[in-house]
Amino acid sequence: MVGMARPADPDLQPPVWHRDKWEQTFGTELPTALADNWPDGARILVMLTFDTQGDVDAAVPGYQHSSGFWREGAINYCDLTQRQYGTRRGVQRILEILARYEIRATFPTTGITAEWYPEVVEAIVAGGHEVAAHGYRHVPLHTLDADEERAELEAATAAIETASGRRPIGWRSPMYSTTPNTIAILSELDYVYNSDFHNDDLPYLLENDGRRMVEIPAGLDDWQLNLIQVPENVAMGGVPYSSPSHVTDVLTSNFDMLYQEAATQPRLMQWCIHPKITGMPHRAWGLEQVINHIKSHAGVRFCAMEDVARLCL
Ligand SMILES: [Zn+2]
Repeated sequence: MVGMARPADPDLQPPVWHRDKWEQTFGTELPTALADNWPDGARILVMLTFDTQGDVDAAVPGYQHSSGFWREGAINYCDLTQRQYGTRRGVQRILEILARYEIRATFPTTGITAEWYPEVVEAIVAGGHEVAAHGYRHVPLHTLDADEERAELEAATAAIETASGRRPIGWRSPMYSTTPNTIAILSELDYVYNSDFHNDDLPYLLENDGRRMVEIPAGLDDWQLNLIQVPENVAMGGVPYSSPSHVTDVLTSNFDMLYQEAATQPRLMQWCIHPKITGMPHRAWGLEQVINHIKSHAGVRFCAMEDVARLCL
């Protein structure tokens, strides 16, 4: 995306992937202590996570060239202001809903966003929520070499610590763009959990050189649920709107299946939500419908990701 020239990577020669590479790349997979530490009276744990990035993408070179529709080099204010909606209005609406239902959540936040909008991070912290890190510039990590990736993760960590008053212990990569270096760098920076993968409903541990990282799979993402990214729509900063009832259908079905399974085994539900998308009124209405549905069941425990990560160790 940034267009950097990169040397040929021997790891990217065919065959690019083999099952054995999972352990070589990310470490030995171990079960968690979640079942042993399961909270009394809980049947299912539910994590709502809100990726807060605002208009940070507009600071990345090349962002405005995503379509031939916009003159090269011109800032697409239509797109930019839609992104701003997340930090300007979406987060606030979501915080009000979470307060109304007494739900604690996690806000993976981009470093630059925390620097540009410290009042947003203050409001998240004042609501009692966890602020995790979500990149510094919101660039895909696979576009960076190892040193650049380390600098990106360090900058993100420092920015979130400054804005929230607390060093983050949780990470989600921009666009889930984990590299073979990410988990190791996170371990060195004392992160406790990562939330990038999509291969399970339950968390698991990755052990590397004696260090353990909790992986909390990211679950459903409102980006995929709501948006169809075709170039014409990106150019207009706009997207086709799916019906909130479609989204609530998907989410309640997801919950209902997990809740049924949770009668006999540990189950978690996780939803990755973007304030610029689900913070809009019609989708926030959908979010509230889903929360109402979930809350009507016995034994539901809403958790921040850090709470779940601690139960896993
Ligand atoms: Zn993001």
